[in-house]
Amino acid sequence: MAKPTIDELRELVRGEVITSDDPSYEGARRVYNAMIDKRPLCVVRASGVSDVIAAVSFAREAELDLSVRGGGHSVPGFGTNDGGLVIDLSLMKGVRVDQKNRTARAEGGATWGDFNHATNAFGLATTGGIISTTGIGGLTLGGGIGYLTRGYGLSCDNLISADVVTADGRVLTASTDENADLFWALRGGGGNFGVATSFEFKLHPVKDIYGGPMFFELEHAGELLRFYREFIADAPEEFGGFPAYQIAPPLPFIPEERHGDTFIAFVACWAGPLEKGESALKPVHDVAPVVAEHVGPMPYPALNAAFDALVPPGLQHYWKANFVTELTDAAIETHLEHGAKIPVVNSTVHIYPINGACHRVGPDETAFGHRDANFATVIAGMWPEPADNEANIEWVRNYYAATAPHSKEGGYTNFMAADDQDRVPVNYGKAYDRLLEVKRNYDPNNLFHMNQNIKP
Ligand SMILES: Cc1cc2nc3c(=O)[nH]c(=O)nc-3n(C[C@H](O)[C@H](O)[C@H](O)COP(=O)(O)OP(=O)(O)OC[C@H]3O[C@@H](n4cnc5c(N)ncnc54)[C@H](O)[C@@H]3O)c2cc1C
Repeated sequence: MAKPTIDELRELVRGEVITSDDPSYEGARRVYNAMIDKRPLCVVRASGVSDVIAAVSFAREAELDLSVRGGGHSVPGFGTNDGGLVIDLSLMKGVRVDQKNRTARAEGGATWGDFNHATNAFGLATTGGIISTTGIGGLTLGGGIGYLTRGYGLSCDNLISADVVTADGRVLTASTDENADLFWALRGGGGNFGVATSFEFKLHPVKDIYGGPMFFELEHAGELLRFYREFIADAPEEFGGFPAYQIAPPLPFIPEERHGDTFIAFVACWAGPLEKGESALKPVHDVAPVVAEHVGPMPYPALNAAFDALVPPGLQHYWKANFVTELTDAAIETHLEHGAKIPVVNSTVHIYPINGACHRVGPDETAFGHRDANFATVIAGMWPEPADNEANIEWVRNYYAATAPHSKEGGYTNFMAADDQDRVPVNYGKAYDRLLEVKRNYDPNNLFHMNQNIKP
């Protein structure tokens, strides 16, 4: 059978079909990580589900590599490819809030900024990430760790249903009542099963939070990390937040003479009653003298966008990550040594808490295979100059090698680098075998392979 042509695809698509002769091609082929320099045959900017069906069918029939791009934040750059087809969902950003039932349905290309903007108007939110430009798609399908995780679980724990275009071009709704195996797999199994054109989430009464970053001298990093490990074990679940190694950016709340110095920071988010915010954060505040802080009441979307400027599109990215059950003294020693060597203001190391509500979801309920972990560590190398790649990658690798013996074997799939493909089974952890079964049912020919891939 003759393979379909791009002209035939154009006939079927209402959005844009962008090829190399198009002036918008340069922008369309790029993803957030500037290290990725790939040239797809064409990028389909889908305007809706029918465009997605057309593009999936085209890629399958033309036997092209297929990338699915939501927010474009994948560090390995799965949202683009060489010579294949990209489905770019960035035109599909609609979010509809059902105020009465406290739910929201968002299209697959929305970012957390789009989502929070829509839900905050109703005084509602769900767990999203730390940066507002990350896509709800990739983040939720891999799990979804953020400020509200301890109170409301992972993003995927808040998923009620999703509409999915599968490899054979069908549109399935996945929920606990329909295609329950697919629904299970979507909550942690990443983009392996199809294109999620919309996500329906539970919402919670979170409008304004009390929080922000506090900067402590590096000499107090050990005290802060040891305090954090004890405090977070049974802190109230309205308390979210994490320690971070951070070079001070040139912001007005940081004394000018300290710009460029390295600190241990704590980014806090109290999502309970605002009047209790100050006392809720006091234990952190009291660990050591605070050099600079920007803490107070603010709309939840403001905290979610507070660090966006530190990580604009176009940086070089190389990340490594592990789950951690126990933050031992030995593990803390490795952070003290390597965190202090953080090379550049855009890079950071976060040790996220994933206990609380996240632990109340059973290990088999979703495909997030590490419910026994208490922390998710990410060593996020991000820097502007390609000339600095070697030094920055080396910092990430050395840091990771030092922490790995104190961590679980697996790490969070959404934080993995391109060279972590051999870790796929351990990263999916307990869920891997069942994910493999679901993959064989829904995508036996592995059309959706540009991801942390479960090979059928
Ligand atoms: C600056 C930055 C901050 C981050 N912060 C956090 C954080 O706070 N918490 C956290 O948990 N993670 C975080 N991450 C990691 C993030 O979850 C992953 O990079 C995730 O893959 C990004 O999703 P995306 O839609 O933006 O990326 P994309 O590159 O568009 O997508 C990544 C992959 O997800 C799949 N995918 C995306 N959308 C869909 C869809 N609609 N249907 C089917 N498959 C889809 C595809 O396989 C795609 O290749 C961060 C990443 C970056 C770069």
